[in-house]
Amino acid sequence: MKIEKTAMAAGHPFPRCYPEELLVVEKGEGVYLEDQAGNRYLDFAGGIAVNALGYGRDDLAEIAARQMKKLSHISNLFTTGPALELGRKMVKRGGFQAVQFLNSGSEANETALKYARLYAQRTRGKDSYNLLCFHNAFHGRTLGALSVTPTAKYQEPFMPLIPGTKAIDFNDCRALESTLNSSFAAVITETIQGEGGLKAMTPDFAATLNRLCRELDVLLIVDEVQTGLSRTGTFFAFEGVGLEPDLVTLAKPLAGGLPLSAVLIPEKINSLIHLGEHGTTFGGGPVTTAVASKIWDLLSEEDFITSVAEKGGYFKGLLGKLSSRFAFLGEVRGRGLLLGLEVVKSSENGQELLPVLLEELRNKGLLVLRSGKSFLRFAPPLVISREEIARGVDIMEEVFKSIAVKGGLSQ
Ligand code: PMP
Repeated sequence: MKIEKTAMAAGHPFPRCYPEELLVVEKGEGVYLEDQAGNRYLDFAGGIAVNALGYGRDDLAEIAARQMKKLSHISNLFTTGPALELGRKMVKRGGFQAVQFLNSGSEANETALKYARLYAQRTRGKDSYNLLCFHNAFHGRTLGALSVTPTAKYQEPFMPLIPGTKAIDFNDCRALESTLNSSFAAVITETIQGEGGLKAMTPDFAATLNRLCRELDVLLIVDEVQTGLSRTGTFFAFEGVGLEPDLVTLAKPLAGGLPLSAVLIPEKINSLIHLGEHGTTFGGGPVTTAVASKIWDLLSEEDFITSVAEKGGYFKGLLGKLSSRFAFLGEVRGRGLLLGLEVVKSSENGQELLPVLLEELRNKGLLVLRSGKSFLRFAPPLVISREEIARGVDIMEEVFKSIAVKGGLSQ
């Protein structure tokens, strides 16, 4: 597969936080996308872990269209059948008492942080408001979520952020022991750092977090925005490492690309929340929740989850083989179908290799993501087949070979 001329939009009307040129994608089917010039791409990016069920789904389109005709919005002064149906399924799954619907991952984390402060204030007093997060975490770009996303590039232009946040190293049990105390309202964490190099939480760190949070009654917020809903081969990624969250945030795959996020809330927090203390105009509307209800059923089937774990293992094995063949590749990280492959060298002329690889792969018809400074990230639709995984890995091998030859990098 060789792309002759990609459909790139230069001179687009979007702000400069976007690249100068963007690929104009027209449509998709299964795990393939097509650009405006008719080129087809195998999609290992999955809309950044959103498009779990692939593209061109008649079942989801029909649910959305039917609901649009009936009722598309009613505000949170009322509720609807689809919101109730989805909400009831969601609270049942994890033994929670309530679910709050919102619109984005950032907004879900923002809400979880607010509820953690509310809980700490009402149980311990006004001085318990600090928030602990971890280096290389990503929790979003609104001011609260950004305040616990300790990466200078994202934070510095927007200083000052909210007071009372602190960041320590991920997986550092000693730093955690010496930092956490009852002045903290919450710890917020991912179980696999999706944007920060796909580092997975160690079982030791999970156990220390569980113990300290329980002892101090500091709330544990687990951000499952990218990892949740079977992406990592367990329904929630925290199950894979034995973490015991108080609040869970979900977003990306929840409504198949429509904007819907959620916070799962236990009884001990819900019982302290008063009428009108939080809300949203669009969150949990009938169209997004009708679609999400179907997606929730499909993604929570045990056979489906097992198939993700199995395909993830196969994919990870192939990445391991690739890594051992090329000297410019390093560690393979991640779980299920959220995987990363480290690029350890820059090319001979000193140019950063990672963006070159992303572009070359795209020009050969494979869309891939990056994570952190040095990882290629793979988050394909979860419905991908083994054959499609192998096909993508073949494209990578071809591109890596030609890069190695062109750049004088050893194979
Ligand atoms: N948390 C995590 C773990 C994420 O990966 C992201 C998005 N990459 C967010 C929060 C923010 O989500 P959104 O862009 O929908 O606000």
